[in-house]
Amino acid sequence: MNRHAVTGALLFDGTTDPPRPEHTVVWEGNRISWVGPDAEAPLDGTVVVEAKGDALLPGLIDAHVHLCLEPTIDGVDGVAEDPIERVMARSIDNAARLLAAGITTARDQGSRDGVAVRVAGAQRNGEIVAARIMAAGRGITPTGGHGWMLGVEADGPEAVRAAVAAEVARGAEIIKLFPTGGVLGSGSHGFDVVMTAAELEAAVEEAHRLGVLVGAHIHGPEGIEMALEAGIDTIEHATGITAAQARRAAAQGVALVPTLTGIDVLQDRADLLPPDLLVRALAVGAAQAEGIRIAIAEGARVLAGTDSGTPFNPPGLLPREMRLLAGLGMGNAGAIAAATSLVADTLRMQDRGVVRVGAIADLLLVDGDPLADLTALERPRMVVQDGAAR
Ligand SMILES: [Zn+2]
Repeated sequence: MNRHAVTGALLFDGTTDPPRPEHTVVWEGNRISWVGPDAEAPLDGTVVVEAKGDALLPGLIDAHVHLCLEPTIDGVDGVAEDPIERVMARSIDNAARLLAAGITTARDQGSRDGVAVRVAGAQRNGEIVAARIMAAGRGITPTGGHGWMLGVEADGPEAVRAAVAAEVARGAEIIKLFPTGGVLGSGSHGFDVVMTAAELEAAVEEAHRLGVLVGAHIHGPEGIEMALEAGIDTIEHATGITAAQARRAAAQGVALVPTLTGIDVLQDRADLLPPDLLVRALAVGAAQAEGIRIAIAEGARVLAGTDSGTPFNPPGLLPREMRLLAGLGMGNAGAIAAATSLVADTLRMQDRGVVRVGAIADLLLVDGDPLADLTALERPRMVVQDGAAR
């Protein structure tokens, strides 16, 4: 079996532990087989990449993407009108772009007709070179609800329960719900809660019975309260979360995925936005920053996810999300864990997101020290996925 190694690197293992200089990582096939100081590295018969001055990390994991969307102002509604072949081709292309940016795994949080499930399968079977995808399939939303273009509509606890079972049967590895309105697209409904407590409970119960986790798109404390009560596993956006809710999320082991990038990029392009969208984006951005700063201080688990596919938010902006999280109190070390080991642990993928013997050889080599400056992550020198340089 081929042995490969990176040597001389500043090694980040995916936790918040300090990085270790002059370290070597060896892998055989798709698994890491040795980690330690350069001086002790067993390099006989090994293909070696010299990496002095570079940092080596686990491949990054984006906890929230939409492969099927074109990142334009009209892309969210537009996906409903596109020929499905075009949606599929774009989804494959976006998954490949993620990998090129050093994101070796991503969780898709809703795709039209569940195309992301098929992208996930194609990657798994080696038919495409792309980020590994954990796909939610179609998100579940009430009739006319937010996210309908990425979803399936269901009303009432029994219909929601059946929709969960149907998505899992179609290959979804996680369930996505839209219990509140949102920012983008028709049917956005602001922060209104549009699913009932009984619907949420039915969805969570059925998903957990089938062995899959549930993520819920939520803006506003009212929706967050319902989701915590129902036993949701991840809260996406988490706009306006209160200190008490953050403490409860921490106690219940619920992870928050704020996707600050989606709003941050809109604020950058304020001159191009319809006025009503700009007003919504500014309100959500302010409420998210305040809530997530509190959540980090309260010890809630906060993960890095970009919501890529939304307007001006192409695949690969995860380092930007990490900078935003770092700035809200997480710090650079915390942000690195939030885009590696913490996502993997939350999504029950403990054999990645870490650099240790036995883990999958998903590695990212970058130019510079991300602990000092997270923009180093925007300069990938080499991406290794499943042991293969990509
Ligand atoms: Zn999303």
